[in-house]
Amino acid sequence: MKYDSNIYRPPSEAYTLLLQVTSGCSHNKCTYCNMYKDVQFKTETLEQIEKDLIEAKSFYQYGERIYLLNGDPFCLSADKLKSIAKLINKHLPNCKTISMYSSISSIKSKTMDELKELRSLGINDLYIGIETGNDEALKNIKKGNTSEEAIEQLKRLNEAGIDFISIIMYGVAGHGKGIENAIDTAKLLNSANSKVIALMNLTLIPGTDLYEESLRGEFLESSELEKLIEVKTLIENLNLKTETAFSSIHISNIAPLNGTLPRDKQKFIDRLNAAIEQF
Ligand code: SF4
Repeated sequence: MKYDSNIYRPPSEAYTLLLQVTSGCSHNKCTYCNMYKDVQFKTETLEQIEKDLIEAKSFYQYGERIYLLNGDPFCLSADKLKSIAKLINKHLPNCKTISMYSSISSIKSKTMDELKELRSLGINDLYIGIETGNDEALKNIKKGNTSEEAIEQLKRLNEAGIDFISIIMYGVAGHGKGIENAIDTAKLLNSANSKVIALMNLTLIPGTDLYEESLRGEFLESSELEKLIEVKTLIENLNLKTETAFSSIHISNIAPLNGTLPRDKQKFIDRLNAAIEQF
């Protein structure tokens, strides 16, 4: 298998075959991220992808899931994604789900017919780094989309039948803005049906633009207490139409929660209140 740059994949894809279809990230501007800072974005050739799939047949013949690399492979044209999906279906016919990260703008660039066709070829379970529904925070972190654009594109995924995992990064609006951030993010999440809502805690990583902003005093980090109150406010304001898996078990989180909403809403709030009382 050809892997020629840094690899990042969601923890839930630990046992999934990773297939390189891009290197790096086509956006590469989010101010909190250093994952692909030194990697030149490139796309893999169909010839190499097919070579990797032929190799994978020897050890992954019965695999039911494939994860496409790297930062935002859904940025590829619909035609290229269709060709990749067809090659996967040809060489690994037991594969039922082709998963990957996607940005909001990569969804926007596809027509509804294209989204539906990609779904019919097995492309499903897109991981989307939504981070926040607060427009000021989205602009500050250079996410590349507004909350309105995110809502519109998530609804289009619902219409196309493509499941998605919404990744939220609390603390991203900074000190004093957690409650507002939580309310705006809940509004965004309430507008479409996620398969999973996964929470991460903002971590300032040396070398990133946001880290430098924090050193200059331009970005003030929220305290742990503020962040717990932010997560509680988010959960209080979530009114999801369908039962949705909810997880804050990523290592970055302050208080691990795992279950579904709305079923576990009160249980989560009680746990967060208990954690808040300890401060
Ligand atoms: S889209 Fe993802 S990989 Fe790319 S810069 Fe932003 S956070 Fe990093």
